[in-house]
Amino acid sequence: MAELIARGITKSYPNGTATERRAIASVDLHVASGELVCIIGPSGCGKTTLLNVLAGLDSPDAGTVEITGGHGPKPVTSYVFQEPRLLPWSTVSSNLRFVLDARRDTRTLVDGWLERVGLAGRGDDYPRQLSIGQRQRVAVARALIVQPDVLLMDEPFSALDELTASRMRVELLALWSELRCTVVFVTHNPLEAALLADRILVMSPGPGRIVQEIRPADALPRPRDPDDARLWELSRRAVAALRAGAGER
Ligand code: ADP
Ligand code: MG
Repeated sequence: MAELIARGITKSYPNGTATERRAIASVDLHVASGELVCIIGPSGCGKTTLLNVLAGLDSPDAGTVEITGGHGPKPVTSYVFQEPRLLPWSTVSSNLRFVLDARRDTRTLVDGWLERVGLAGRGDDYPRQLSIGQRQRVAVARALIVQPDVLLMDEPFSALDELTASRMRVELLALWSELRCTVVFVTHNPLEAALLADRILVMSPGPGRIVQEIRPADALPRPRDPDDARLWELSRRAVAALRAGAGER
């Protein structure tokens, strides 16, 4: 488990002109060890940009990201993208082995993770033989098999049908309660955020800033029921915060 602290993250992209387009502005973020924080915001507000900076895939123009703690000498961070991003020429098992130390005996570990994500017996299939939901399950297994201290997820279920997505949310919560890694989960779905989050951070339209915090952890103990009517109230508050952040009444 690890703590993540980001301070004053600002990032602009070149605009094809002398001016630059600012994607995120002065974002401060403090995620406690083992906490699950959801970030919601309208599309284009800089959610992916922020996650890329947190992951170290992109460098900010200003600000710092600090990850401390973890179970090894260095904190391990995993990233689940919006699309599965599997190696198409490798089997499902090879996709998982790819992120592991080659010297280890990985067979039992890989098979164990395939079972945990509901894909027992599918290790010899290629990604194209799986549904999009199954591929995203492989992506989740690939992220978790390395025992991350920090898990970053970028709208991982938004391309799935609602039935599959709702199953995978519940499965993610079960895995998280077992692994207790620190999670930053980006979504544009306020109901999803209400179900998953200890805290919801609401971003304004671009350049994104964090404009409000909502604490489902105070209202809803875990384990949570996806059909709990209180989720709607939290979701309604999140939508109101999104509207306020966008300057609407
Ligand atoms: P979100 O994930 O919230 O939809 P993004 O972080 O993808 O938002 O994008 C934030 C803003 O930065 C958008 O205006 C987008 O067009 C711009 N942007 C994102 N990536 C790039 C890039 N590689 N080059 C130029 N502009 C980008
Ligand atoms: Mg995005």
